[in-house]
Amino acid sequence: MDMKPAQTLTPQDWLQSAPLQKVLAVLNEGAPQDDPNALLVGGCVRNALLGQTIDDIDIATRLTPDEVIARMDAAGIKTIPTGIDHGTITAVEDGQPFEITTLRRDVETDGRRAIVAYSTDWAEDARRRDFTINTLLADVKGRVYDPLGEGLKDIQARRVVFVGEPAQRIAEDHLRILRYFRFHALYGAGNMDPEALEACEAAADKIPSLSKERITQEIFKILSHDDPAGVLSVMAGRGILTDLPASGYNPQLLKDLCFIQKQFGLRALPARLLVLGGLKAEGVLTLERYLLIPKLYKKDMAAIEGVLALADLNEEQAIKEALYRYGRTPTAQALMIEIALDRVMRGGAGEALNLIRNWDIPTFPVSGEDLIKQGYKPGPELGQKVIALEAEWIKGGFRNLC
Ligand code: ATP
Ligand code: MG
Repeated sequence: MDMKPAQTLTPQDWLQSAPLQKVLAVLNEGAPQDDPNALLVGGCVRNALLGQTIDDIDIATRLTPDEVIARMDAAGIKTIPTGIDHGTITAVEDGQPFEITTLRRDVETDGRRAIVAYSTDWAEDARRRDFTINTLLADVKGRVYDPLGEGLKDIQARRVVFVGEPAQRIAEDHLRILRYFRFHALYGAGNMDPEALEACEAAADKIPSLSKERITQEIFKILSHDDPAGVLSVMAGRGILTDLPASGYNPQLLKDLCFIQKQFGLRALPARLLVLGGLKAEGVLTLERYLLIPKLYKKDMAAIEGVLALADLNEEQAIKEALYRYGRTPTAQALMIEIALDRVMRGGAGEALNLIRNWDIPTFPVSGEDLIKQGYKPGPELGQKVIALEAEWIKGGFRNLC
């Protein structure tokens, strides 16, 4: 390897973890220390340098995917061919996943997917990455390598800069438009680069040609930001995904909701998506033109909407009914929305949350079978009767029936 380490990371817990050490040791076995087969790359190195939490660990290697699999097999480490078409294997050690990708160069690009060839050249691999801050590499000792000589200075200045010419990099892969706004929001400081913004704006109409899966990954990460409404409005100012939100979307409400979720330590995407969908279940259909929303999220969104329609969350009884009908998480998230809407005072939220967390949610003590035993006939009327009794029981404060 013709690179020299440019600096060393401060001691990092995640670097010391046994699974990471093992996976890197297996990949680097037999390689000289100053010319390793595999290095950490991308988000983990960037975030470590910025003192931010590490979410996932990506490894770049000059070994081919076949070699990676063979080495992992021999070491008893499970592998999943998660992105084998572009050279990515996920190794799972002790329940922890590591994305291992063979060094690459693009052979053909069409804005959506690339045909790649494997490479053994670290700088060549860095040149096909999106932003300079994402090109940094590190070894197991925390020594950082800057293959293009630009990543470290841009990290220090918190500048999100395309590797190469923005318009060309966006033409190769339109997803980079969304990634540019995401990375600037998360790691950037100061103004965005006018040339990059112009290139994003010029290619905004290409975004719908991307797969929903890729768009969703980026949008969910933008929505996880502390102020997604702010990021989305900067994007919309450039004509990017202006038609993502459903009618009735209130950016100020999204801003306030995110602030309140953060304050209560209850950050969650379904409530944010519901606000983006205009607080209506049909809004999901609008969002689904771009997004793949997991079933579990949709269930939560419908439940939050149910709580909002059901009850005034200032009342203890209403909270109990919401808990009984929809469960703790949707009730808590509906409460966050109600506070953001100023319909519940923030001061009362502590007590409400206490109830939401700790109330022993009862089960309705009467079943159809009980009624049949009492002489009722099976059929639709019986179902109605159970529902009516249940409603009465709820209204009566969930007291035991006798
Ligand atoms: P995080 O995981 O925190 O979202 P990350 O930088 O690790 O951030 P990933 O999407 O996991 O982002 O990608 C890993 C690395 O792969 C990036 O740091 C970047 O170097 C490269 N990369 C990912 N997607 C692209 C893309 N569309 N174009 C060019 N390079 C990319
Ligand atoms: Mg990553």
